[in-house]
Formats: sequence, C-alpha cells, structure tokens
Amino acid sequence: MSADTDPAQTLESLANPPVDGRELIRFDQVTKRFGDNTVLDRLDFSVDSGKHVTLIGPSGSGKTTILRLLMTLATPDEGTIKVGGEYLTHEERGGRLVPAGEKHVREVRKNIGMVFQQFNLFPNMKVLRNITEAPVTVLGLSADEAEQRARELLELVGLTEHIDKYPSQLSGGQQQRVAIARALAMRPQVLLLDEVTSALDPELVAGVLDVLRDIARTTDITMLCVTHEMGFARDISDQVLMFDSGRVIESGPPEKMFSDPEQERTREFLSAVL
Ligand code: ADP
Repeated sequence: MSADTDPAQTLESLANPPVDGRELIRFDQVTKRFGDNTVLDRLDFSVDSGKHVTLIGPSGSGKTTILRLLMTLATPDEGTIKVGGEYLTHEERGGRLVPAGEKHVREVRKNIGMVFQQFNLFPNMKVLRNITEAPVTVLGLSADEAEQRARELLELVGLTEHIDKYPSQLSGGQQQRVAIARALAMRPQVLLLDEVTSALDPELVAGVLDVLRDIARTTDITMLCVTHEMGFARDISDQVLMFDSGRVIESGPPEKMFSDPEQERTREFLSAVL
C-alpha cells in the first residue's frame, strides 16, 4: 500500500461484501455433548451480517464450542447451523437434510475466519507465507496477488517490517496480529475471535485489541467474539450474549448488559470479572 492510500478505504474492502442486515449465522436447536456433558443445550441464536456480537459467561459455559462448531472443528449432535443461508454440516438433497459432503463444508467454511487463543501460526513459514498460504492454495490467488494482499494487511496490523521473520522471532502480540492478518487474507464474511488476548503478556494486550477495534470500526466484517476483556466488548459490540450452562440466558446491547442486566446470574458474573 502506498503512503498516500487512505487506510479506511483499504479496510472497507477486507470482507467479502455482505448483504446488509441479512442473517449471516443461525444456530437452530443446536445440542452438543461430550459424553454425558451437555455443553450446548438446544441453542438458538443468530447474527446479522456486519454486526459484532460478543459471547460472555463463565468458563465452561460453551462459548468456545460455538466457535469450534462454526469452524467445523466439532459437529453438533442435534440441530442445524447455517452460514450465509447455507447449511454448514448438512446439505439439502431431494427435499431432505443429509450430512454434508466435504466439498460442501469447505465451500461454506470459506466464509469464516478464526483467530485462536494460541495464535496457531505455521512455525516453519515466514510471516509472508503464513498469510499467503491459504489464499493461494484454497482461493487460487496468484502468488503476486496474495503477496499484495498480505502486504496491505501487514500494514494494517503494523507489522510490515517483520514480513521476513519466522513466528518464533516475534512477540506473542506480534504473532497474534499476524494471525489476524492471516484470517483476514481469506476475506471471510465473519471473523471468529476466541479469547485472542488471554495467552498474551499484559503489556501486549492493548496493541492487539487496538487492531481489532480498528477493524471493527472501519470494516463491515461480521465479528463473533469470545472475550474476558469487558472494556473491549463494550467498545466494539452491537450485541452481548450471556451464556450459562450452554444456553443464552440474556442478551442485549452492551450499554444495557454491562450497566443494568436483568438476570442475577449476569450481575454475579460481571461483578466477578469487571
Ligand atoms: P467456554 O468457552 O465457555 O469456557 P467451552 O466451550 O470451552 O466453554 O467448553 C464447554 C464444556 O465442554 C467444558 O465443560 C469443557 O470441558 C467441555 N469440552 C470442550 N471441548 C471438549 C472436548 N473436546 N472433549 C470433552 N469435553 C470438552
């Protein structure tokens, strides 16, 4: 990106164009169990495109499982998930819903990017290749196109000068910013953020959250975020969902949820973390 490019202009083109206000994610009666442990219990919720939704709630209440289901790192035992109007783990065939084939899952999942708690960069690849690998192999971009996209994103996350380094040569905060750039390089419609600052030293947290605030403010990408950073959640969220034992017990705009929640359980949780 040249020095005179308006960063906001570049940011706007990061996400695949969503249709405004359209429902981008829908969970319908989703149940997930691990053995006897019912982690999600007939969960219904939806996220409209362009919105930033934060999932809060005690540890073990099922928040990460929701993101993992969306990434197809886990599959629901019951119920259905739709992304962009398409079933994620099912296909409609002859008027019936059947488990989806791999190709279908891959197509729908292309719309979803995720940033993990532990960065999960490829340790044997330099920063540039970490970002270009999937756009080239999955989306079929040319090496030049992928590199140009990577350079724009590295500028966005403030890491241009680290393009030729290996992940092990970067701080945790820098690695996490590469991971954000890597997820965005696929131009997903939705970005899933799973406690992305919880593995970082405290002094590195603000830099990562600032990058995410910028992305939330200046792009139309949809965000689904699990975080314990309540100040961040308050800043970026359109809606906050409070989870307890695998169900949404309360939801609302951040001003209401953080200042005047209805449920005693939400009040208890917030007074413990705020
Ligand atoms: P949260 O993100 O709200 O802390 P999680 O979604 O990570 O909650 O976990 C919800 C519950 O599911 C926890 O009790 C956890 O131990 C359990 N769980 C998550 N993943 C697995 C797994 N792969 N195998 C068995 N239990 C799991």
